[in-house]
Amino acid sequence: MIEKKLPLRDQKLSEKELCPDALLAGQEAAFARDIERLKARRHEFVQVPCPACGAGDGVPAFEKFTFDYCRCPHCRTLFMSPRPSPQVMAAYYADSENYRFWAKHIFPASEDARREKIHRPRLARVLEYCATYGIPTGTLMEVGPGFGTFSALAAACGRFGKVMAVEPTPELAAACRERGVTVIERRVEDLQNQGLNVDVALAFEVIEHLFEPGRFLSAMAAQLSPGGLLVLTCPNGLGFDIELLGAASLAVDAEHVNLFNPDSLGHLVTACGFEVLESSTPGRLDAEFVREAVLAGHFSLKDNPFLQRVLIDEWERLGHGFQTFLAENGLSSHMWLAARKRRR
Ligand SMILES: [Zn+2]
Repeated sequence: MIEKKLPLRDQKLSEKELCPDALLAGQEAAFARDIERLKARRHEFVQVPCPACGAGDGVPAFEKFTFDYCRCPHCRTLFMSPRPSPQVMAAYYADSENYRFWAKHIFPASEDARREKIHRPRLARVLEYCATYGIPTGTLMEVGPGFGTFSALAAACGRFGKVMAVEPTPELAAACRERGVTVIERRVEDLQNQGLNVDVALAFEVIEHLFEPGRFLSAMAAQLSPGGLLVLTCPNGLGFDIELLGAASLAVDAEHVNLFNPDSLGHLVTACGFEVLESSTPGRLDAEFVREAVLAGHFSLKDNPFLQRVLIDEWERLGHGFQTFLAENGLSSHMWLAARKRRR
């Protein structure tokens, strides 16, 4: 998975700041063609239970791009079902015009800005977890490193004995190597017996894309030393803009088949051999996304005078404080989760 077309929700910047509008238009067209290709294989989609708690009684929530999303009545995870089979997903990413467009036109022009505004703060947070929870910094493994910007930065910071990336896509693995990053060119799910004994395992914006997130987490656990740190980031399906906008939220996407929330992801991680250390929702863009949807005429607050006031009429005065409130109370639509592999 590569960080790509969607605004980067854990940062105080939107994709627009990183990329000219003309490029975004080209990317949208490529994405639309990807969606059509996915629709053409709808007969291969698979009905699934809740990806967090396994309950089979998901309640229809909405559809997007004609795909169906359910909300689990038990853990409130939002998930696509029926969803593309693992084979269909693999073909989707391998043939994605959107990803090709992004890699060719957008990423090269924005890598420096991304390194400073996205990856450096991420690294600082990971190091903070290590310090807070006494995690050794021997080996760091990043799964789904994209072009390797974060892994290269982590290697260069000199705080970890060894940094490696796990990336099965040949083009992305090559990009990581170009940045001096050691790469294992496999899926983490296929490393079961490798026993890499890593101290820190990271997956940024990966778990929402996976057909079987539980299997992925067990595979992460298998490569961690006992007591090792797992860090995940992903959308929070109970966050402000997702709850309010539903299908109109940018986080609800044909690729985001699992929209966990801090509790449901915590339960899943616990079931896969970890103890949760902390979760947080430091997202900064919820209020802005809803405001933009209203201003663009995609969403109306006419029946919600309170939010109309906060997000539109008195935005300059109230917007920032409102977003801070969301972030500090687990209500933003982007979350971080840190967990430790149980010792036995
Ligand atoms: Zn559930």
